[in-house]
Amino acid sequence: MKERLWIRAGKLYTPRCVYDGATVVARAGLIQGVLPGDQAAPAAGDVVIDAREHIVAPGLIDIHVHGGGGHDTMDATPEALDGLAAFHARHGTTALLPSTVAASPEEVHRALEAVEEAMARPPAGARVLGAHVEGPFLNPARRGAHVERQVRSPDRARDDWLTRHQAAIRRITLAPELPGALELIRDMRAGGVLVSLGHSAPSEDVLQQALMAGASHVTHLFNAMSTLEKMGPLRRVGLAEYALVCDGLTVEVIGDGLHLPFALVQLIVRAKGASQVALVTDAMRAAGLPDGRYQLGGMAATVRGGMAVTDEGGLAGSVATMDQLVRNAVAGVGLPLAQALEMATLTPARILGIAARQGEIAVGKAADFVILDRALRVVETIVDGNVMRDA
Ligand SMILES: [Zn+2]
Repeated sequence: MKERLWIRAGKLYTPRCVYDGATVVARAGLIQGVLPGDQAAPAAGDVVIDAREHIVAPGLIDIHVHGGGGHDTMDATPEALDGLAAFHARHGTTALLPSTVAASPEEVHRALEAVEEAMARPPAGARVLGAHVEGPFLNPARRGAHVERQVRSPDRARDDWLTRHQAAIRRITLAPELPGALELIRDMRAGGVLVSLGHSAPSEDVLQQALMAGASHVTHLFNAMSTLEKMGPLRRVGLAEYALVCDGLTVEVIGDGLHLPFALVQLIVRAKGASQVALVTDAMRAAGLPDGRYQLGGMAATVRGGMAVTDEGGLAGSVATMDQLVRNAVAGVGLPLAQALEMATLTPARILGIAARQGEIAVGKAADFVILDRALRVVETIVDGNVMRDA
């Protein structure tokens, strides 16, 4: 493609630098230049987007999302993967990791196969970067909305899907205290997979071994994990507090205002800094749909008033979208917009190890953008230099 894409921005967030009035030029899916003012000099055939009334930021990156728009990763069909990628693109997401849940090896295999195929297609919305395997290697006592009978320790004979789909797996969430988990962390890390601790209540000793083995991230901080508890007259920290003070661990928060009180999100950002805390939706299929009954990886959930609850009474993921999380981080948590955007763009890109190519508006990086109005609602999403339009 020879034509260039010009975006004239009212305010441009890189996200860490903020420019009043700037123009971004992209060609063949890559950013060619970031120029001051709006002195664009487009040639015939170039596409010009006038966002002088708007905010331009890098596309949002969701590293933990199960579904949305009626689709779920575990549906394991091209329609489901394209459907959830298209749904979240309407909410500013330009790249995501479709996430699996604890299920049988056969079901996980099918879901990973569908992710692999989606990765090979041109994006139907947000780019499918690979899969986040959440479960089945979770602590049964902290399984949250994962089906009890599917939660278990790694079993190399049964889990051949781990090697069969190595190319598709970008991230795994596991509980390091399970038998065989530390060895799995080493193997996954050696294969370039982001290893994230979650659905877990490890001892401090196991935690340190998990870090040594290569774990570097923590899944939905404070949800489904051990926290500060009283042991006789003393207090013992859990995984959550350990993650707050350990610089070797990045974290993510479900900033929907339900999984965590906003004051706790503020505490987390103060402790870790915006460069170590990613916003994630952990969205399930009902995101964007009306209240009702929905299936979530073999479990039923009821959605009412923006809250998804399992029949056991726990939260069943969220119905949030990334643009909503950015608005929450500003209006609810009280963070500056630059920080909120960093937590939804550059930070998740760095956590995933793709910041050299994505997550920032800079020369040489991917032409993935979100254009927001002054109320932070999505005006346009651009993936690989293409404006996403509803099919
Ligand atoms: Zn979870």
